[in-house]
Amino acid sequence: MSTFNTPFYQIDEAALLKNMEKMAFVAQHSGAKCLLALKCFATWPVFDLMQDYMAGTTSSSLYEVKLGREKFAGETHAYSVAWADHEIDDVLQNSDKIIFNSLTQLARFRERSEGCARGLRVNPRVSSSDFILADPARPHSRLGESDPAKIAAVLDQISGFMFHNNCENGDFALFSKMLDHIESTYGELLHKVSWVSLGGGIHFTGNDYPLDAFCARLKRFADTYHVQVYLEPGEASITNTASLEVTVLDIVHNDKDIAIVDSSIEAHMLDLLIYRLPAKLNEQGSHRYQVCGKSCLAGDIFGEFDFPAPLHVGDRLSIQDVAGYTMVKKNWFNGLTMPSIVIKRRDGRLEQVQKYEFADYLASFGNQS
Ligand SMILES: *Cc1c(COP(=O)(O)O)cnc(C)c1O
Repeated sequence: MSTFNTPFYQIDEAALLKNMEKMAFVAQHSGAKCLLALKCFATWPVFDLMQDYMAGTTSSSLYEVKLGREKFAGETHAYSVAWADHEIDDVLQNSDKIIFNSLTQLARFRERSEGCARGLRVNPRVSSSDFILADPARPHSRLGESDPAKIAAVLDQISGFMFHNNCENGDFALFSKMLDHIESTYGELLHKVSWVSLGGGIHFTGNDYPLDAFCARLKRFADTYHVQVYLEPGEASITNTASLEVTVLDIVHNDKDIAIVDSSIEAHMLDLLIYRLPAKLNEQGSHRYQVCGKSCLAGDIFGEFDFPAPLHVGDRLSIQDVAGYTMVKKNWFNGLTMPSIVIKRRDGRLEQVQKYEFADYLASFGNQS
Protein backbone atom coordinates (compact mmCIF):
# COMPACT_ATOMS: atom_id res chain seq x y z
CA MET A 1 0.00 0.00 0.00
CA SER A 2 1.23 3.47 -0.86
CA THR A 3 2.23 6.22 1.51
CA PHE A 4 0.19 8.97 -0.15
CA ASN A 5 -2.29 10.78 2.04
CA THR A 6 -5.89 9.95 1.28
CA PRO A 7 -8.10 10.92 -0.39
CA PHE A 8 -6.74 10.12 -3.83
CA TYR A 9 -8.03 8.72 -7.07
CA GLN A 10 -5.85 5.85 -8.19
CA ILE A 11 -5.81 5.06 -11.90
CA ASP A 12 -4.65 1.60 -12.90
CA GLU A 13 -2.79 1.61 -16.22
CA ALA A 14 -3.03 -2.16 -16.65
CA ALA A 15 -6.85 -1.97 -16.38
CA LEU A 16 -6.90 1.00 -18.75
CA LEU A 17 -4.92 -1.00 -21.28
CA LYS A 18 -7.62 -3.70 -21.36
CA ASN A 19 -10.23 -1.12 -22.41
CA MET A 20 -7.79 0.41 -24.89
CA GLU A 21 -7.22 -2.94 -26.55
CA LYS A 22 -10.99 -3.18 -27.12
CA MET A 23 -10.97 0.31 -28.67
CA ALA A 24 -8.26 -0.82 -31.08
CA PHE A 25 -10.14 -4.06 -31.79
CA VAL A 26 -13.29 -2.15 -32.72
CA ALA A 27 -11.32 0.23 -34.95
CA GLN A 28 -9.63 -2.66 -36.69
CA HIS A 29 -12.73 -4.78 -37.22
CA SER A 30 -15.31 -2.11 -37.99
CA GLY A 31 -13.31 0.77 -39.45
CA ALA A 32 -14.84 3.14 -36.86
CA LYS A 33 -12.52 5.60 -35.13
CA CYS A 34 -12.80 5.99 -31.37
CA LEU A 35 -12.47 9.49 -29.91
CA LEU A 36 -12.22 9.98 -26.17
CA ALA A 37 -15.01 12.23 -24.82
CA LEU A 38 -13.06 14.58 -22.56
CA LYS A 39 -16.14 15.64 -20.61
CA CYS A 40 -16.03 12.22 -18.91
CA PHE A 41 -12.33 11.91 -18.30
CA ALA A 42 -9.65 14.58 -18.77
CA THR A 43 -6.79 13.18 -16.69
CA TRP A 44 -4.14 13.83 -19.30
CA PRO A 45 -1.17 12.16 -17.57
CA VAL A 46 -2.46 8.83 -18.93
CA PHE A 47 -3.14 10.16 -22.42
CA ASP A 48 0.20 8.91 -23.79
CA LEU A 49 -1.02 5.39 -23.14
CA MET A 50 -4.52 6.04 -24.52
CA GLN A 51 -3.48 7.87 -27.69
CA ASP A 52 -1.80 4.76 -29.06
CA TYR A 53 -5.19 3.00 -29.12
CA MET A 54 -7.70 5.77 -29.85
CA ALA A 55 -7.92 8.14 -32.82
CA GLY A 56 -8.23 11.40 -30.88
CA THR A 57 -10.67 13.32 -28.70
CA THR A 58 -14.00 15.04 -28.80
CA SER A 59 -15.02 17.93 -26.65
CA SER A 60 -17.83 20.05 -25.33
CA SER A 61 -16.06 23.37 -24.78
CA LEU A 62 -13.09 25.48 -25.83
CA TYR A 63 -10.93 24.25 -22.96
CA GLU A 64 -11.57 20.63 -23.84
CA VAL A 65 -10.73 21.39 -27.47
CA LYS A 66 -7.41 22.88 -26.39
CA LEU A 67 -6.69 20.02 -24.00
CA GLY A 68 -7.33 17.49 -26.76
CA ARG A 69 -5.15 19.35 -29.22
CA GLU A 70 -2.33 19.83 -26.75
CA LYS A 71 -2.25 16.48 -24.97
CA PHE A 72 -3.78 13.80 -27.20
CA ALA A 73 -2.46 12.80 -30.61
CA GLY A 74 -4.77 12.37 -33.59
CA GLU A 75 -7.98 14.18 -34.43
CA THR A 76 -9.59 16.87 -32.32
CA HIS A 77 -13.34 17.22 -32.76
CA ALA A 78 -14.95 20.36 -31.40
CA TYR A 79 -18.56 20.23 -30.36
CA SER A 80 -20.40 22.55 -28.03
CA VAL A 81 -24.04 23.15 -27.25
CA ALA A 82 -23.33 26.81 -28.09
CA TRP A 83 -20.14 28.59 -29.09
CA ALA A 84 -19.55 32.21 -28.08
CA ASP A 85 -18.40 34.84 -30.57
CA HIS A 86 -15.17 35.45 -28.67
CA GLU A 87 -14.06 31.82 -28.66
CA ILE A 88 -14.91 30.54 -32.13
CA ASP A 89 -11.60 31.48 -33.79
CA ASP A 90 -9.63 29.72 -31.07
CA VAL A 91 -11.86 26.65 -31.45
CA LEU A 92 -11.37 26.54 -35.21
CA GLN A 93 -7.62 26.97 -34.90
CA ASN A 94 -7.33 24.06 -32.46
CA SER A 95 -9.67 21.51 -34.07
CA ASP A 96 -9.94 19.29 -37.13
CA LYS A 97 -13.73 19.28 -37.26
CA ILE A 98 -16.32 21.54 -35.71
CA ILE A 99 -19.79 20.23 -34.95
CA PHE A 100 -22.57 22.75 -34.51
CA ASN A 101 -25.51 21.98 -32.25
CA SER A 102 -28.10 23.99 -34.17
CA LEU A 103 -28.85 25.49 -37.55
CA THR A 104 -28.70 28.94 -35.98
CA GLN A 105 -25.15 28.38 -34.67
CA LEU A 106 -24.13 27.05 -38.08
CA ALA A 107 -25.55 30.18 -39.72
CA ARG A 108 -23.99 32.50 -37.15
CA PHE A 109 -20.49 31.12 -37.72
CA ARG A 110 -20.87 30.16 -41.36
CA GLU A 111 -18.43 32.75 -42.68
CA ARG A 112 -15.86 32.46 -39.92
CA SER A 113 -15.76 28.67 -40.32
CA GLU A 114 -15.60 28.73 -44.13
CA GLY A 115 -13.06 26.14 -45.30
CA CYS A 116 -13.21 24.14 -42.06
CA ALA A 117 -14.72 20.64 -41.84
CA ARG A 118 -18.16 21.24 -40.35
CA GLY A 119 -20.79 18.93 -38.97
CA LEU A 120 -24.21 19.19 -37.38
CA ARG A 121 -25.61 17.41 -34.35
CA VAL A 122 -28.76 15.50 -35.21
CA ASN A 123 -31.20 14.48 -32.51
CA PRO A 124 -33.03 11.30 -33.54
CA ARG A 125 -35.52 11.71 -30.68
CA VAL A 126 -34.87 8.24 -29.27
CA SER A 127 -32.50 7.45 -26.42
CA SER A 128 -31.44 4.64 -24.12
CA SER A 129 -31.26 6.87 -21.05
CA ASP A 130 -32.97 5.84 -17.82
CA PHE A 131 -32.51 9.31 -16.36
CA ILE A 132 -34.49 12.23 -17.72
CA LEU A 133 -31.65 14.48 -16.55
CA ALA A 134 -29.24 12.81 -18.95
CA ASP A 135 -31.68 12.02 -21.76
CA PRO A 136 -30.70 13.91 -24.95
CA ALA A 137 -34.10 12.97 -26.42
CA ARG A 138 -36.08 14.39 -23.50
CA PRO A 139 -39.08 16.55 -24.35
CA HIS A 140 -38.07 20.02 -25.56
CA SER A 141 -34.43 18.92 -25.84
CA ARG A 142 -32.00 21.58 -27.08
CA LEU A 143 -29.45 18.96 -28.13
CA GLY A 144 -29.35 18.86 -31.92
CA GLU A 145 -31.62 19.34 -34.94
CA SER A 146 -34.26 16.76 -35.84
CA ASP A 147 -36.17 17.86 -38.93
CA PRO A 148 -34.77 16.05 -42.02
CA ALA A 149 -36.07 18.76 -44.38
CA LYS A 150 -34.36 21.56 -42.49
CA ILE A 151 -31.14 19.56 -42.25
CA ALA A 152 -31.26 18.80 -45.98
CA ALA A 153 -31.23 22.53 -46.68
CA VAL A 154 -27.73 22.99 -45.18
CA LEU A 155 -26.05 19.91 -46.66
CA ASP A 156 -23.88 22.12 -48.85
CA GLN A 157 -22.32 23.58 -45.68
CA ILE A 158 -21.49 20.40 -43.77
CA SER A 159 -19.67 17.14 -44.39
CA GLY A 160 -20.91 15.08 -41.45
CA PHE A 161 -23.35 14.43 -38.63
CA MET A 162 -23.04 13.67 -34.96
CA PHE A 163 -25.69 11.60 -33.18
CA HIS A 164 -25.40 11.11 -29.43
CA ASN A 165 -28.45 9.31 -28.10
CA ASN A 166 -27.02 6.35 -26.16
CA CYS A 167 -26.43 6.54 -22.44
CA GLU A 168 -24.89 3.75 -20.38
CA ASN A 169 -26.24 1.38 -23.02
CA GLY A 170 -24.79 -2.11 -22.56
CA ASP A 171 -27.50 -3.74 -24.68
CA PHE A 172 -26.29 -4.32 -28.23
CA ALA A 173 -29.79 -5.10 -29.55
CA LEU A 174 -31.05 -1.77 -28.25
CA PHE A 175 -28.12 0.08 -29.84
CA SER A 176 -28.79 -1.66 -33.14
CA LYS A 177 -32.51 -0.90 -32.98
CA MET A 178 -31.84 2.79 -32.44
CA LEU A 179 -29.40 2.80 -35.33
CA ASP A 180 -32.17 1.26 -37.47
CA HIS A 181 -34.34 4.19 -36.45
CA ILE A 182 -31.61 6.66 -37.43
CA GLU A 183 -31.22 4.95 -40.80
CA SER A 184 -34.92 4.93 -41.55
CA THR A 185 -35.37 8.58 -40.54
CA TYR A 186 -32.19 10.11 -41.97
CA GLY A 187 -31.06 7.52 -44.56
CA GLU A 188 -31.25 9.88 -47.51
CA LEU A 189 -29.18 12.50 -45.72
CA LEU A 190 -26.62 9.95 -44.57
CA HIS A 191 -25.86 9.14 -48.21
CA LYS A 192 -24.80 12.76 -48.72
CA VAL A 193 -22.17 13.17 -45.99
CA SER A 194 -18.71 11.67 -45.64
CA TRP A 195 -18.55 11.06 -41.88
CA VAL A 196 -20.96 10.21 -39.08
CA SER A 197 -20.26 10.14 -35.38
CA LEU A 198 -22.52 7.85 -33.37
CA GLY A 199 -21.56 9.57 -30.11
CA GLY A 200 -20.85 7.99 -26.76
CA GLY A 201 -22.85 6.03 -24.21
CA ILE A 202 -22.30 2.63 -25.84
CA HIS A 203 -20.81 0.32 -23.21
CA PHE A 204 -18.93 -1.92 -25.60
CA THR A 205 -15.96 -2.47 -23.28
CA GLY A 206 -18.19 -4.35 -20.82
CA ASN A 207 -17.30 -7.98 -20.18
CA ASP A 208 -20.10 -9.67 -22.08
CA TYR A 209 -20.59 -7.17 -24.87
CA PRO A 210 -20.85 -8.91 -28.28
CA LEU A 211 -17.95 -7.08 -29.92
CA ASP A 212 -18.04 -9.03 -33.17
CA ALA A 213 -21.70 -8.26 -33.77
CA PHE A 214 -21.09 -4.63 -32.81
CA CYS A 215 -18.24 -4.32 -35.31
CA ALA A 216 -20.30 -5.98 -38.05
CA ARG A 217 -23.18 -3.56 -37.41
CA LEU A 218 -20.89 -0.52 -37.56
CA LYS A 219 -19.26 -1.79 -40.72
CA ARG A 220 -22.60 -2.40 -42.39
CA PHE A 221 -23.62 1.16 -41.53
CA ALA A 222 -20.35 2.58 -42.90
CA ASP A 223 -20.59 0.53 -46.10
CA THR A 224 -24.24 1.41 -46.74
CA TYR A 225 -23.61 5.17 -46.68
CA HIS A 226 -19.91 5.28 -47.56
CA VAL A 227 -19.08 7.20 -44.41
CA GLN A 228 -16.23 7.23 -41.93
CA VAL A 229 -17.84 6.27 -38.63
CA TYR A 230 -16.69 7.76 -35.35
CA LEU A 231 -17.53 6.69 -31.81
CA GLU A 232 -17.12 9.02 -28.84
CA PRO A 233 -16.69 6.74 -25.82
CA GLY A 234 -16.32 8.47 -22.49
CA GLU A 235 -17.29 6.03 -19.76
CA ALA A 236 -16.57 2.99 -21.95
CA SER A 237 -12.95 4.12 -22.35
CA ILE A 238 -12.18 4.28 -18.67
CA THR A 239 -14.72 2.03 -17.02
CA ASN A 240 -13.32 -0.02 -14.12
CA THR A 241 -9.90 1.61 -14.23
CA ALA A 242 -9.74 3.73 -11.07
CA SER A 243 -10.58 3.75 -7.38
CA LEU A 244 -11.08 6.49 -4.84
CA GLU A 245 -8.91 5.70 -1.84
CA VAL A 246 -10.27 7.05 1.45
CA THR A 247 -9.61 6.58 5.16
CA VAL A 248 -12.10 6.06 7.98
CA LEU A 249 -11.93 9.09 10.33
CA ASP A 250 -14.64 8.19 12.80
CA ILE A 251 -17.21 5.51 13.60
CA VAL A 252 -20.52 6.58 15.09
CA HIS A 253 -23.79 4.81 15.72
CA ASN A 254 -27.35 5.92 15.08
CA ASP A 255 -29.47 2.78 14.76
CA LYS A 256 -26.91 1.82 12.15
CA ASP A 257 -23.13 1.68 12.32
CA ILE A 258 -21.78 4.64 10.42
CA ALA A 259 -18.24 5.10 9.11
CA ILE A 260 -17.16 8.65 8.26
CA VAL A 261 -14.44 8.92 5.61
CA ASP A 262 -12.17 11.75 4.45
CA SER A 263 -14.11 12.40 1.26
CA SER A 264 -17.58 13.46 0.17
CA ILE A 265 -19.92 12.46 -2.61
CA GLU A 266 -20.81 16.09 -3.32
CA ALA A 267 -17.18 17.14 -3.58
CA HIS A 268 -15.51 14.07 -5.10
CA MET A 269 -18.16 11.79 -6.63
CA LEU A 270 -20.88 14.20 -7.60
CA ASP A 271 -22.59 11.81 -10.01
CA LEU A 272 -23.64 9.61 -7.07
CA LEU A 273 -25.55 12.54 -5.64
CA ILE A 274 -27.02 13.68 -8.93
CA TYR A 275 -28.21 10.26 -10.04
CA ARG A 276 -28.91 8.90 -6.53
CA LEU A 277 -26.63 5.93 -7.06
CA PRO A 278 -24.67 4.05 -4.41
CA ALA A 279 -20.89 3.82 -4.67
CA LYS A 280 -19.28 0.49 -5.54
CA LEU A 281 -17.16 -1.34 -2.98
CA ASN A 282 -15.66 -4.79 -3.41
CA GLU A 283 -16.40 -6.01 0.09
CA GLN A 284 -18.37 -8.94 1.46
CA GLY A 285 -19.12 -10.03 4.99
CA SER A 286 -21.52 -9.64 7.89
CA HIS A 287 -20.50 -6.25 9.30
CA ARG A 288 -22.74 -3.61 7.78
CA TYR A 289 -21.83 0.08 7.77
CA GLN A 290 -23.27 3.15 6.19
CA VAL A 291 -20.23 4.85 4.68
CA CYS A 292 -20.57 8.63 4.78
CA GLY A 293 -18.59 11.65 3.68
CA LYS A 294 -17.22 14.37 5.93
CA SER A 295 -19.03 17.33 4.38
CA CYS A 296 -21.86 18.96 6.32
CA LEU A 297 -24.46 17.73 3.88
CA ALA A 298 -26.76 15.40 5.83
CA GLY A 299 -27.25 13.09 2.87
CA ASP A 300 -23.55 12.80 2.06
CA ILE A 301 -23.72 8.99 1.93
CA PHE A 302 -21.63 6.69 -0.26
CA GLY A 303 -23.90 3.76 0.52
CA GLU A 304 -24.32 0.79 2.84
CA PHE A 305 -21.81 -2.00 2.59
CA ASP A 306 -21.05 -5.29 4.30
CA PHE A 307 -17.47 -5.72 5.46
CA PRO A 308 -15.68 -8.90 6.49
CA ALA A 309 -14.66 -7.41 9.86
CA PRO A 310 -15.56 -4.42 12.06
CA LEU A 311 -14.19 -1.13 10.76
CA HIS A 312 -11.76 1.00 12.76
CA VAL A 313 -10.53 4.55 12.54
CA GLY A 314 -7.57 4.58 10.16
CA ASP A 315 -8.87 1.79 7.91
CA ARG A 316 -8.43 2.32 4.22
CA LEU A 317 -11.48 1.88 1.95
CA SER A 318 -11.28 1.61 -1.79
CA ILE A 319 -14.28 2.86 -3.74
CA GLN A 320 -14.40 1.19 -7.13
CA ASP A 321 -14.91 2.29 -10.71
CA VAL A 322 -14.50 6.02 -10.21
CA ALA A 323 -12.67 7.18 -13.32
CA GLY A 324 -15.65 8.61 -15.20
CA TYR A 325 -17.40 11.88 -14.35
CA THR A 326 -15.55 12.21 -11.03
CA MET A 327 -12.20 13.94 -11.46
CA VAL A 328 -13.83 16.25 -14.03
CA LYS A 329 -16.48 17.20 -11.46
CA LYS A 330 -14.51 17.44 -8.24
CA ASN A 331 -15.01 20.70 -6.42
CA TRP A 332 -14.07 22.59 -3.29
CA PHE A 333 -17.39 22.15 -1.44
CA ASN A 334 -16.93 22.47 2.32
CA GLY A 335 -13.27 23.32 1.68
CA LEU A 336 -12.46 19.62 1.63
CA THR A 337 -9.05 18.63 0.34
CA MET A 338 -9.40 17.50 -3.23
CA PRO A 339 -8.23 13.96 -3.81
CA SER A 340 -4.79 13.88 -5.36
CA ILE A 341 -4.32 11.74 -8.45
CA VAL A 342 -2.06 8.70 -8.41
CA ILE A 343 -1.32 6.45 -11.36
CA LYS A 344 -0.40 2.84 -10.87
CA ARG A 345 1.99 2.36 -13.79
CA ARG A 346 2.18 -0.94 -15.62
CA ASP A 347 5.36 -1.85 -13.79
CA GLY A 348 3.53 -1.47 -10.46
CA ARG A 349 5.14 1.86 -9.53
CA LEU A 350 2.75 4.38 -7.93
CA GLU A 351 3.20 7.92 -9.22
CA GLN A 352 1.39 10.96 -7.84
CA VAL A 353 0.67 13.22 -10.83
CA GLN A 354 -1.43 15.87 -9.09
CA LYS A 355 -1.67 17.12 -5.55
CA TYR A 356 -3.83 19.94 -4.25
CA GLU A 357 -2.91 22.31 -1.49
CA PHE A 358 -4.38 25.27 0.33
CA ALA A 359 -2.92 27.54 -2.38
CA ASP A 360 -5.07 25.79 -5.02
CA TYR A 361 -8.18 26.30 -2.93
CA LEU A 362 -7.29 29.97 -2.54
CA ALA A 363 -6.52 30.33 -6.25
CA SER A 364 -9.92 29.03 -7.25
CA PHE A 365 -11.58 32.10 -5.70
CA GLY A 366 -9.23 34.87 -6.75
CA ASN A 367 -5.78 35.77 -7.88
CA GLN A 368 -5.21 39.17 -6.27
CA SER A 369 -2.59 39.06 -3.57
C1 LIG B 1 -21.29 12.81 -22.88
C2 LIG B 1 -21.01 12.66 -24.32
C3 LIG B 1 -20.20 11.61 -24.78
C4 LIG B 1 -19.62 10.54 -23.86
O1 LIG B 1 -20.64 9.80 -23.27
P1 LIG B 1 -20.33 8.50 -22.39
O2 LIG B 1 -21.65 8.10 -21.88
O3 LIG B 1 -19.39 8.90 -21.30
O4 LIG B 1 -19.72 7.50 -23.31
C5 LIG B 1 -19.95 11.54 -26.14
N1 LIG B 1 -20.46 12.46 -27.00
C6 LIG B 1 -21.24 13.48 -26.59
C7 LIG B 1 -21.77 14.45 -27.57
C8 LIG B 1 -21.55 13.61 -25.24
O5 LIG B 1 -22.33 14.61 -24.82
